[in-house]
Amino acid sequence: MKITEVRVILTCPGRNYVLVKVLTDEGVYGVGDGTLNGSELAVAAAIEHLSHLLIGMDPQRIEDIWYFLYHHTYWRGGPVYAAAIGAIDIALWDIKGKIAGMPVYQLLGGAARDKVLCYGHAGGRSPQEVEESVRRLQAKGYRVIRAQIGGYGGSGMVRTEPSPRPGIPPTQYFDPTPYMLEHVKLFEYLRKQLGDSIELCHDVHEQLTPIQAAWLAKQLEPYRLFFLEDPLPPEQIQSFALVRQASTTPLAMGEIVHNRYDALPLLQNRWIDYLRCAPMHIGGITEMRKVAAVAETFGVRMAFHGAADLGPIAQAAAVHLDMVIPNFGVQEWVTFPEEAYEVMPGACEFRDGYAYPPERPGIGLDINEELAARYPYQRAFMPLVRREDGTMHRY
Ligand code: MG
Repeated sequence: MKITEVRVILTCPGRNYVLVKVLTDEGVYGVGDGTLNGSELAVAAAIEHLSHLLIGMDPQRIEDIWYFLYHHTYWRGGPVYAAAIGAIDIALWDIKGKIAGMPVYQLLGGAARDKVLCYGHAGGRSPQEVEESVRRLQAKGYRVIRAQIGGYGGSGMVRTEPSPRPGIPPTQYFDPTPYMLEHVKLFEYLRKQLGDSIELCHDVHEQLTPIQAAWLAKQLEPYRLFFLEDPLPPEQIQSFALVRQASTTPLAMGEIVHNRYDALPLLQNRWIDYLRCAPMHIGGITEMRKVAAVAETFGVRMAFHGAADLGPIAQAAAVHLDMVIPNFGVQEWVTFPEEAYEVMPGACEFRDGYAYPPERPGIGLDINEELAARYPYQRAFMPLVRREDGTMHRY
């Protein structure tokens, strides 16, 4: 069997996705997802560049192709190539599953559990609104829920300046003190209203300094979080030691980690309880299962990133892995725009707080290319955050 074409499908059914289709001379093809929020065109160019190397290769040699793509350039690594390799890798596992007549989770060793525990996102402008949002998710069966006031930062986002021109996002200005104080009160309120019947998470989104993060983790300890996510940016990874020592609040980190080497200190030092990479963003199923095995060694569970910034194919890749890894923790869960499900039919099922992988051979999803072409890519960038005085927030 030989690869005859690697097709990049850039589409915006509700939001931007970078999809890939790997075609072979035997008619069987695989689909993948390499969406990297705000850098879609860069990933699309990387996949197109790599495609020239792949023509004529045997798509069944997944491990060999992974290393071939990773080392094809002396200047290896980086999130763009990780997502490009991730998209191709998912498509190769899809092909292998179709050849074997098995869903990918069966190829990976078979189910280690019956279903995949998911967490949903609750939000609102006040503790009361967040409570109502949590209760709506509970009614849908969620047992683990992330709670935020006003998205990332709450009233810490002190003002917003409009975008300078169309397509450029507005700039937000952040003050950590109101954000921290408001969220301590939020979790005190939620525990009082909801009791112990629900697991609660919170995502700091890297907005704090090490000592602020340590303070917040300590203040939240009485409210027994399931985890506190991304208290620090990856650039300050060594300071996780400080946050760890400050409290017994479980810590999660890693949604923008895109290689095993950045994940390693978090695992080796046992600074976190949950590693949050997405299979697609770290180089696909091939690399993610190795990183998960290293995490298992250090007693760290996996909580794969699964926000709206990746699509139903990447979500399914995560769920196939969730089914088989012994150290599964929880899967972040969102629903996608209706048009995205039409462009990528066959998504995982979600019932009563749990996800289920498709039982069809391979990843279980397809790409409707004709429909995808009706939703052209829309230029988009990530929002900017500055400090109150105008300084860029993260350093
Ligand atoms: Mg997050």
